Amino acid sequence: MANRVRVRLAPSPTGPLHVGRARTALFNWLFARHNGGVFVLRIEDTDRQRSTEANLVSILDSLRWLGLDWDEGPDIGGPYGPYFQMQRLETYRQAAERLLANGAAYKCYCSVPELEAMRQEAKAAKVAFRYPGRCLRLTREQIAQFEAEGRRPVIRFIVPKEGTTTFRDMIHGDITVNNSELDDLVIVKSDGIPTYNFAAVIDDTTMEMTHVIRGDDHIANTPKQIHVYRALGYTPPEFGHLPMILGLDRAKLSSRHGAAAVTDFAAMGYLPEAMMNYLALLGWSYDDKREFFSREELIKYFDISRVGKTGAAFSMQKLEWMNGAYVRGLSPDALVVRALPFLQEAGLVSASPPPSELAYVRQVMPLVHERLKRLAEVAELTDFFFKEQLEYDGALLVGKGMTADQSRLALEAAQAAVASVDVFNVPSLEAAIRPQAERLGLSTGQLFGTIRVAVTGRTVAPPLFETMAVLGRERCARRIQQALTKLPSGIPR
Ligand code: GLU
Repeated sequence: MANRVRVRLAPSPTGPLHVGRARTALFNWLFARHNGGVFVLRIEDTDRQRSTEANLVSILDSLRWLGLDWDEGPDIGGPYGPYFQMQRLETYRQAAERLLANGAAYKCYCSVPELEAMRQEAKAAKVAFRYPGRCLRLTREQIAQFEAEGRRPVIRFIVPKEGTTTFRDMIHGDITVNNSELDDLVIVKSDGIPTYNFAAVIDDTTMEMTHVIRGDDHIANTPKQIHVYRALGYTPPEFGHLPMILGLDRAKLSSRHGAAAVTDFAAMGYLPEAMMNYLALLGWSYDDKREFFSREELIKYFDISRVGKTGAAFSMQKLEWMNGAYVRGLSPDALVVRALPFLQEAGLVSASPPPSELAYVRQVMPLVHERLKRLAEVAELTDFFFKEQLEYDGALLVGKGMTADQSRLALEAAQAAVASVDVFNVPSLEAAIRPQAERLGLSTGQLFGTIRVAVTGRTVAPPLFETMAVLGRERCARRIQQALTKLPSGIPR
């Protein structure tokens, strides 16, 4: 057990799962699965104001949607539980007591306004603020006085002021900071709730984490945590800090860049397997060339030593391109299964479609399969297959270089063909309609264009005869009839 890799994702349920954290989750999960280790989910819910049950549910849903699974966690428990920090307060309290007892920590009674004044002073003197240690050596009388005033102390941890702290990072190599840059950090707030830097150290130790892999926005926390590990007599795990995910403008990725929460991407119709593949490439590469990896291949090839140090640029365009390739790779049946919720959401298909409706969907989907980059586009690309009434501007029926009269003749020719073909399929429709162009003195583009608008309500649609065959004789007949009434010159003959 001792040598088995144990890693964790430690989200705070203060919002949905951001793609940055999803990538952190993925790399931890890949690291665990590649090494036959254990992936743990721990919920850092100590921010009482901002943590919600709904966020927690959304985070777990997003992780599952991506295809990640965990071996221990809030929903399934495990041998190192509980997996909510708010259920582990007693463990933190005991550790804090220990540090107070051996002089590694002290109670600090400074009030918020007092601390603010100290901060202003440091600002005026143009020096970085460090807590000056005012409460480091309080007399018994001072303590009694503060308590009598009703002040409730925080607990501060004493960080050595001299020397340096070095740790080896799996991605960045040795990182060294001057201890003089570190502050006596608050480890327990006045309400008795631990701060992140304290609780994380205790949890990562008691949960026997072998590696802590997280975003490089935490690099500054690691030296502080290392001091806490040492003061508690713990051995720190190995650390790996992943490069930030940046927008193409090199700013940290946020909703400003279009989407940032995993739920947004799911709603836009990205496939989870494409998302996983794309996220894996944000910071990691196999050989700087290959881009497509299945889940199994990622597990097989993932190597943390091939994670880069510099920020990884998130390109929505590249993701969309990759997603399109995954969509095209779906079998026709799989596409129907994946697209159905989006058609239902748009109100085009009923909530529990009978077999006939499903069969129709199955006929429609191949016509747009190639063009579909995101599943959410399916509604916009196919709505005319499902709508009873088409709404469009009748002027569209009159193509470039045509008169309304020619359009009417084109529609009448189509009407006759639709009524007369024996079998309503692509070859017979084509055989009946294509020759009409010459007869009417139109180009096939003009003829087909007018019929396309009539049967789909738009100028751009899948191939005409395939579309008509799927729509069926009745729908086509009804739509052409309707088009004749919509012609700009008005009344059909
Ligand atoms: N709750 C912290 C975060 O979400 C965890 C950081 C860590 O992995 O140590 O940023």
